[in-house]
Amino acid sequence: MRGMCQSMSYRSNRGAEMKDRYDVIVVGAGPAGSIAAKTIATHGLDVLMIEKRQEIGDPVRCAEGVGKPQIKKHIKPDERWIAAEVRGSRIFAPDGTMVELSEDLSGAEVGYVLERKVFDRALADEAALAGAEISVKTRATDLIIKDGFVKGITALHIGGEQKIHADIVIGADGVESKIGRWAGINTTLPASGIETCAQFLVADIDIDQDRCEFYLGSTIAPAGYAWVFPKGERCANIGLGISGDVHAARPVDLLKNFVRTRYNDGKIIEFVVGGVPTSGPLEQTVASGLMLAGDAARQSDPLTGGGIINAMDAGKIAGDVAAHAIEEEDVSRARLQEYEAGWRDAFGKKMNRSLAVKNRFVTLSDDDLNKLAQSVEGADFSTVDLFGLLVTLVRKNPRILWSLRKMF
Ligand code: FAD
Repeated sequence: MRGMCQSMSYRSNRGAEMKDRYDVIVVGAGPAGSIAAKTIATHGLDVLMIEKRQEIGDPVRCAEGVGKPQIKKHIKPDERWIAAEVRGSRIFAPDGTMVELSEDLSGAEVGYVLERKVFDRALADEAALAGAEISVKTRATDLIIKDGFVKGITALHIGGEQKIHADIVIGADGVESKIGRWAGINTTLPASGIETCAQFLVADIDIDQDRCEFYLGSTIAPAGYAWVFPKGERCANIGLGISGDVHAARPVDLLKNFVRTRYNDGKIIEFVVGGVPTSGPLEQTVASGLMLAGDAARQSDPLTGGGIINAMDAGKIAGDVAAHAIEEEDVSRARLQEYEAGWRDAFGKKMNRSLAVKNRFVTLSDDDLNKLAQSVEGADFSTVDLFGLLVTLVRKNPRILWSLRKMF
């Protein structure tokens, strides 16, 4: 088998030189960008993907949990990037009441815990193998816009600035995205629309390697949750996220407290902070000559904060639409609406539902959360998904979840 880094040493940008023109430029080599670049290259188009960091996938700002069936749509599972395979999940209410989800249920949500440093590189590698050019340590600093159409980017690469033209630019530049704003799209995230997170990779701890755990409660993670995702060999990602409008505590202090009370003997070998958009998607994700995908389009799930799969799905749809639009020589905003409609059709409805559930859950007291957990404690959830669990919760707790009754 061909080694993963063999093609990462690349061909990528032909000795660090980029051309002045491509069919498509993809900004950002995360899951959205790499899938978009691979899709476009597979259509036979000339595509450049740039990444501002010097190493794709590093540093990791992610708990690395993904659903098994969803990931398999995009890439063949490979043990090099699967850190752990879990068989279920446990959710703990503030009073410790546990709801246990089986593999069938939680496998669709968190079935693999990835090694994202390797995973993101594997995705970029597939894009390169399909024919995409890749340039690391290359930052988009502006867009070239003419007659209302995005026509390319200005990029800073190892000290030098270069204008690069393209028929379409795909902004896959993550939560801190600037591409959309440069194109005149309102990408403002209200404080309540971002979950601020802190995470430790903790070694040498006793945890159940077969299960992901989630902890709720105002003293643990106000308007958010804490997670423990096993990474194999007595190691786990232990983190938490709280709503950006909670100012009473800092995520890192809450996390230290969480780890101290539960895993005091563990050794912290990595620390990351980061934000996940939980606002629901942007109203508009296209402009003439431009599409936004992944966290740049705020496509992460507002309830769980999971964004890897939606980013990949959006990257695929954006890649296909880009290829067809270029073939038809029409990259107007009207033509690119096919992308807007496509991703909304694929997962927009689920996102809207998650947003409604999140908006209700962040207002619940610890007492309400305990009651919800107690109402389904010991129930058999082996044949339902997260939607099914929520249906049961709404049915059993009409008073607490009244506002969600029409949705479930
Ligand atoms: P990213 O993966 O963020 O990639 C964007 C890339 O663009 C980056 O590499 C960045 O360096 C690059 N870039 C930015 N600006 C420029 C520029 N100007 N020029 C060039 N390159 C640029 N999701 C899950 O599914 N499961 C989880 O368990 C999970 N846990 C999380 C835990 C934490 C603490 C956080 C912060 C997030 C978590 N997420 C999780 C969310 C997930 O990480 C993101 O949704 C996902 O990475 C989005 O992919 P993306 O391709 O849109 O963006």
